[in-house]
Amino acid sequence: MTGPGADEDVAAWARGLGLDGLVDIHVHFLPERVLAKVWAYFDGAEQHYGMPWPVHYRLPEAERLAALRAVGVRTFAPLVYPHKPGMAEWLNGWAREFAAREPDAVPTATFFPEPEAARYVEDALRAGVRCVKVHVQVGAFDPRDDRLDAVWGMLADAGVPAVVHCGHGPLRGEHTGLDVFARVLERHPGLVTVLAHAGMPEYDAALRLVQRFPRVYLDTTMVGVPFTESFMPLPGDWPARLAGIADRVVLGTDFPNIPYDYATQLRAIAEWAEADDRLGEPFLRAVLHDTPAKLLDV
Ligand SMILES: [Zn+2]
Repeated sequence: MTGPGADEDVAAWARGLGLDGLVDIHVHFLPERVLAKVWAYFDGAEQHYGMPWPVHYRLPEAERLAALRAVGVRTFAPLVYPHKPGMAEWLNGWAREFAAREPDAVPTATFFPEPEAARYVEDALRAGVRCVKVHVQVGAFDPRDDRLDAVWGMLADAGVPAVVHCGHGPLRGEHTGLDVFARVLERHPGLVTVLAHAGMPEYDAALRLVQRFPRVYLDTTMVGVPFTESFMPLPGDWPARLAGIADRVVLGTDFPNIPYDYATQLRAIAEWAEADDRLGEPFLRAVLHDTPAKLLDV
C-alpha cells in the first residue's frame, strides 16, 4: 500500500490497486495569460505566504497535459475561477472549449456574485457542466451574497458538485471560514459540496460538516503532504477520523501549481490508508477513483 516513490511509479501503483486510472476532481487549467498571472503570484510567494512556492509543473500546456496523463489520471476536472466581476462567463467559455478538445477533461464552470450569475450558470448546466469551482478567498466575496442564492439552488437541484475553497488556508480572506459556508449549506442542504483542501486548516469543522450534511465531501488537495504539514498540520488521529466517512473523500491535487510532485500527494493518502485497518486499499480505490467518478458522473 505504501505510495509511489516518484511520478514514474504512479500509474503502475494505481494498476496494482486494481484501478484503470485516477480521477482528480481538483486540478487547474486556465487561459495562458491568466495562468501567467497565477504563476507570477507564486513567484512572489515569500511575500504572500511567507515561504517559497516553486510551481513544480511549470510547463507549456501540452506538456502539462502529458504529465497528468503519464501519472495515469484518466479523468480530471480542470477548475477555473475569477478574481473580479465580468470574468466568470469568459472563463466558462474557455473551460467548455478546453473540455471539448481534451476528452479526459470534464466541462467545468465558475461564478462570481454579479447580476448575470444565475443566467450564465444556468447556461453552463444546460451545456452539461459536471463540476463547478468557487474560490471564496481569491474572489473575496461572501458566499451568502443574495445574488448567489439562486445559483446555489440550481446547483443543488442539478446535483452538480461545487468544489468550494472556503477555508482560511493557505491564506485567510474576508469571507473565508467554514462557519460562513455552513450558512450556505443550511439554506441549501442538498448542495453537493466538495470542501477543497478538506477545509484547511479547519479540518475538524470540515469533518463536522461532512457528518451533518450527507452531500458534503472533502478533497485531498495539498492535505497531509510535508509542505502543508509544516504550517497547517492535520490532527494526529486523522486516519481514524476518516474511517467513518471513507466514501466522502475525493482525490484532488491542485496540479500543476504545487511545490512538489504528484506522487507526493498520493503518498500522503496512502499513509492514511495504511495507518488504520478500517481504511486500507478499499479506501484508496474509493478516494482515487470510485467516489470522484461518481460525483463527476464519469
Ligand atoms: Zn485549487
